[in-house]
Amino acid sequence: MLNSVVFDFNKFHIFDLGRHSLPSNFHAKVFFGPDNPPWSSVAKYLGLVFDSKLTFIKMMLNVHSRLVQRGWRLFNHCGRTSGANPKCLENIFKIWILPVFDYASAIWIFRIKDLNCFHHSAPVLGKYKKAFGKLECFYMKCARNVLGVPPGTANMAVLVRLGWLPLDYFLAMRACLWYLKVLNGEAGLSVKKLAFDIYAEDELWSNTCLFKPAFLFLTRLSKISGVNIFVLSPKERVAGIKKAMFLELTSIWVASPLSRFSYVIQPTWEPVILNRSILSKMSTSYYHQYALNRAPLNDRLFKIKKAANPHCRNGCNKLETIDHVLFHCKFYSPIRNEIKKLCSKTKLKFNLANLLVDKQFQLLMETFLLKVHI
Ligand SMILES: [Zn+2]
Repeated sequence: MLNSVVFDFNKFHIFDLGRHSLPSNFHAKVFFGPDNPPWSSVAKYLGLVFDSKLTFIKMMLNVHSRLVQRGWRLFNHCGRTSGANPKCLENIFKIWILPVFDYASAIWIFRIKDLNCFHHSAPVLGKYKKAFGKLECFYMKCARNVLGVPPGTANMAVLVRLGWLPLDYFLAMRACLWYLKVLNGEAGLSVKKLAFDIYAEDELWSNTCLFKPAFLFLTRLSKISGVNIFVLSPKERVAGIKKAMFLELTSIWVASPLSRFSYVIQPTWEPVILNRSILSKMSTSYYHQYALNRAPLNDRLFKIKKAANPHCRNGCNKLETIDHVLFHCKFYSPIRNEIKKLCSKTKLKFNLANLLVDKQFQLLMETFLLKVHI
């Protein structure tokens, strides 16, 4: 096999032989200009790591290494007693970390699950479990650090608290946006033609790892929200896809047997705008820990052998639970009365959901929690 090129073949990185495999004893017979190209099973092209079988697992592992290298930008500011405000941390995450997850993910995200049904509750395919598990684990580490809650806090409850999509849906949303761009000719006419050619050929259509799963996913999401996402304008697409995704995620959250404490106070999985105003980093960490049932109170600490007894620190001879501290312990009556006054003023009920979710109560609640813990 002989070919002539004017560029060094190292500039190309990838040599497409179509579907044919080339036995290694033929490698020496392939010439580009005067030399043999270097052969390897993995090559980088435009920052994307291609493997010869196109699984993109190496790409996912490469993304994970880049995330670990870049993690300091977030984690250096995440101390639960003296770190930055969760809103500020969320911004750091979106600016420095999220684009690393996102880059070129459209090419692999649908491959990790059954191509005919990309659903959050569907399992990740065996060969992708390790690589995607690492990415998901890093994503959740970021989420917990943004909120200021300890390791081990339930994943779904943390995402609901933050109003974030899970990683698989976030990346699938980005892939769907690319698909809609292609379909509407916004990514160039040749790519649009390619998409329609693939659609017209049964074999190509059933093998595509972006167009068909994106089409099926968007069709399902359109049914869920009652809005035809395919005809939305470019500006409406993100909101349209997210709205349908959150509806589907809420139904998963409702049916889950996990984190029922957090479910009672936040029964809907929806976007959240974190409060810019906080009393202190320590108090805002307590506020989110209470909402996620991870408050450092004796009843819970005793169960994990981190407290000598489960009773109230004020000697009430009652279990020190969130319920006891917030609603019954007589030692906190003055601050509790202030919160009750705000309840009557705002005509809101004095209940867990309002105390731990409604932003109007956040600063008073943080004052309350500092009194408990300092
Ligand atoms: Zn007490």
